[in-house]
Amino acid sequence: MQGSRFCIFDQMKHDTTKHQGKRRRLADLLAEKGIKDSLVLDAIATIPRHLFLDSSFEDHAYQDKAFPIGAEQTISQPYTVAFQSEKLEVKPGMRVLEIGTGSGYQTAVLCHMGAVVYSIERQHELFRTSLKRLPALGYKPKKLIFGDGYKGFAEQAPYDRIIVTAGAPMIPEALLAQLTVAGKMVIPVGEKQQKMTIITRTSNADFEQLVLGDFRFVPLLGDKN
Ligand code: SAM
Repeated sequence: MQGSRFCIFDQMKHDTTKHQGKRRRLADLLAEKGIKDSLVLDAIATIPRHLFLDSSFEDHAYQDKAFPIGAEQTISQPYTVAFQSEKLEVKPGMRVLEIGTGSGYQTAVLCHMGAVVYSIERQHELFRTSLKRLPALGYKPKKLIFGDGYKGFAEQAPYDRIIVTAGAPMIPEALLAQLTVAGKMVIPVGEKQQKMTIITRTSNADFEQLVLGDFRFVPLLGDKN
């Protein structure tokens, strides 16, 4: 990627006390907005979000905003990342499947929380970038997968947790089937606007659903999009 504006190794050298101060303030802001999980807040205060974005966004990276990451996709707003991560109730060692790797920032948050992470992305350009970026920044997801997250990743199922980071018009059956009993899925459900939905598998055949507030995500794309 010589000559491009995005060079992971140049950017890695560029994490200063100013960036660190900005992300501690971002974590404080998210705590004021109601995020309580100390593992999540610690992840936000530690992970260099500016290194998951094009360098032209560097000055804005610690605002509580979504930004474009290429391929018509976005890195989610930090509040959304923190909200989903908190609702996921991740404990160290849990196996977590993420649908929509995007920039890899949410993947890094899950790794920081001690999860064993499998993450799927359907845009090849984003998949390739996070394949380089995450290890270069010291994050080691178990597996990054290029593919269609609607289908999940049956080879390594079941998962203790599943997080979907794009707006799903409906809840994919394949994902329900890949949850452990007592496992949880956090998924934004809806077309233009989504309701954050938490699904708990209570037995082999039964699921409970809790519907929380409104969010706005880029769409979860299927085979035909
Ligand atoms: N978690 C990401 C981050 O931290 O940057 C934000 C992801 S962005 C809001 C949603 C992502 O889901 C996009 O990268 C998009 O390409 C991906 N996506 C959409 N449909 C998908 C599918 N069927 N399978 C896998 N990834 C998908």
